[in-house]
Amino acid sequence: MPFATTNPFTGETLKTFPTATDAQIVEAIGAAHAAFLSWRETGFAERAQIMTNAATILRRDSASMAALLTLEMGKLLSEAKAEVELSAAIFDYYAHHAEALLQPERLPVADPAEGEAMLVCEPLGVLLCVEPWNFPYYQIARIIAPQLSAGNTMLLKHASNVPQSAAAFEAVMLEAGLPKGAFINLYAGHSQIELILNDPRVQGVALTGSEAAGASVAAAAGKALKKSTMELGGADAFVVLADADLEKTTKWAVFGRHWNGGQVCVSSKRMIIVDPVYDAFLEGYTKGVAALRMGDPFDPETTLAPLSSQSAADDLKAMIRKAVEHGATATEVGPEAPNHGAFVRPTILTDIGEDNPARYWEFFGPVSMLFRAKDEDDAVRIANDSPFGLGGSVFTGDPAHGAEVAKKISTGMVFVNHPTMVKADLPFGGVRRSGYGRELLGLGLKEFVNHKLIDVV
Ligand code: NAP
Repeated sequence: MPFATTNPFTGETLKTFPTATDAQIVEAIGAAHAAFLSWRETGFAERAQIMTNAATILRRDSASMAALLTLEMGKLLSEAKAEVELSAAIFDYYAHHAEALLQPERLPVADPAEGEAMLVCEPLGVLLCVEPWNFPYYQIARIIAPQLSAGNTMLLKHASNVPQSAAAFEAVMLEAGLPKGAFINLYAGHSQIELILNDPRVQGVALTGSEAAGASVAAAAGKALKKSTMELGGADAFVVLADADLEKTTKWAVFGRHWNGGQVCVSSKRMIIVDPVYDAFLEGYTKGVAALRMGDPFDPETTLAPLSSQSAADDLKAMIRKAVEHGATATEVGPEAPNHGAFVRPTILTDIGEDNPARYWEFFGPVSMLFRAKDEDDAVRIANDSPFGLGGSVFTGDPAHGAEVAKKISTGMVFVNHPTMVKADLPFGGVRRSGYGRELLGLGLKEFVNHKLIDVV
């Protein structure tokens, strides 16, 4: 796909960018490798200062940086500002913690007379990251803050609809003092991923995106024997138990399903409600969703953003139609969509039978699937009946019991009395078709290091 900025609210294509040539890509790999040879020798204090500078610049330029996100992928301006702050917080996190997290570890040895064994973390080299458009800055920060802190250097292939956001982030890092070549934004096409991964100077790839993209890039990495991490789709369960505070729970459900236009891997896509409170939840939830206002994402009165593109909106509508063909009931809620913009009117899907394939799909937009569970055990069964295993939540008046139920839900993250949350100081990642590997904290920091043994006898 060509790289272009198209405003999802107006449909207007404002700027296009040529795809990189193979020669430009090879040159960029060379620059990133040259940068790695000196970056790996820099001290933690210098790296931390650059991370701090990046956070400061993001906060200083929050208004203009946020406006670019709203322009290119259509999220609400308030959400765009929150994303800039979250990205800054991730840089702060690694500025403060990377050195301590990467300290050499002395291994306990059975016989001290045989010497000392140490585990040290060494950077691997040049890494590729492939990122999606739904959080254009956060996705970059989430991978480059830890990897640069660990001493690696990075090439970015961002989504083709956010080229200006990608370039703006590259400029932030240069201004922060990152050496040229240590982080390069490339307008690379899909077919150039293999060229990058086959280069012996490139040591691995981190991808966030759909299952299809993950399977393709992971296969290329596997063929080249390069390490990969995959952060893929999700269909988070939002489990409501009989003793939940329904007023608070429905508010969180409306938020959990509709923030960022419903385009979050950890959106609360499947509401699973136990029978005694199902009807009351449905009534409150429908009212809450109906109160959302679609409109210009720059307008502070707007509470539901357009989708990222007209094709995303068309695809989502087609998925709703197919779910209905297989027996589901689709109820559109709230006002009609504006007469332009990539909108899908909020839709609640019920009666999604066990044999309806839509039960296992990821609806990336304002479409809620509601399931009536016989009881708590049935709710856990439905929650785990998913190819995905990313996040999830349990709502209950008894948080300690909620934590017990959380242990039974088979995902990478479960929250009690909150939809899945994204924060600088919590790890992120999933299991099964949601991918492998973890981002953030020490877990993300150590995904692409050589855990090297030094044994002194
Ligand atoms: P996507 O189509 O997979 O795109 C993601 C990135 O992968 C883009 O840069 C895209 O480039 C690239 N890409 C796609 N197919 C590729 C291929 N065959 N070879 C190389 N690169 C390829 O994802 P999306 O639909 O934009 O994003 C939504 C998906 O991402 C959802 O499934 C969502 O759940 C998932 N997601 C997961 C997480 C997580 O952390 N687990 C976070 C956010 C989103 P182009 O734009 O050029 O196609």
